[in-house]
Amino acid sequence: MITIYWYCYEAPHDEEFVKDSLNEMAEHLKKEPIKLKVTIKSLRDEPELEKEAIAQLNKFHDPLYKHADYSSYITFILLRRSLTTNTRRSSLFVYCNPESYIAVSLIKQAHSPSWGVTVNPVAFVYKLENKYKHGKWIIWHESLHLLGVDECYDVNTLTRNTDCDCETCIMQYEPSEKWQGEFSLCNQNIHQLQGLAKSVDKKSKI
Ligand SMILES: [Zn+2]
Ligand SMILES: [Zn+2]
Repeated sequence: MITIYWYCYEAPHDEEFVKDSLNEMAEHLKKEPIKLKVTIKSLRDEPELEKEAIAQLNKFHDPLYKHADYSSYITFILLRRSLTTNTRRSSLFVYCNPESYIAVSLIKQAHSPSWGVTVNPVAFVYKLENKYKHGKWIIWHESLHLLGVDECYDVNTLTRNTDCDCETCIMQYEPSEKWQGEFSLCNQNIHQLQGLAKSVDKKSKI
């Protein structure tokens, strides 16, 4: 089983939007051609986990506290959680109010201060310009990184890679002008996700 926990930090009005976007992604992943089952769960449903994760989030008050520090701590608590619940992979998606000190700190620290940042197993999204136009795109982009999907753009030029065969692919640096809100992946991303689906299947048969 693969689980993505989600949490909204100082953004209570966006909770439904975040949950619906993640569930929409899970519906697409479950179908052909990927067939990967991902469970979307609110961090609030696991009070112990929530308490530990939030205690660490509060450390972002210290400007020296890094996203990588948070990731390594979350790796530890999620791994412990996975072992007790027999979950294959658990990760955390945090949606932050862009004014929150976490967002401010991440924007300052990130190499590209754009929409969000992911260091497995934790993704942060902190900036949704025009939420209903681009919101789902960035939520999907960052949470697909949690499932091991790579970027489809050149980090220096920010242009789409030549091996990305889908103009509206959501793993590009920013949404293509042609993007109309659909869950759209190139063949390379699909292969990566199919690989994960196969490895989960194999594991559950052992
Ligand atoms: Zn990315
Ligand atoms: Zn692509």
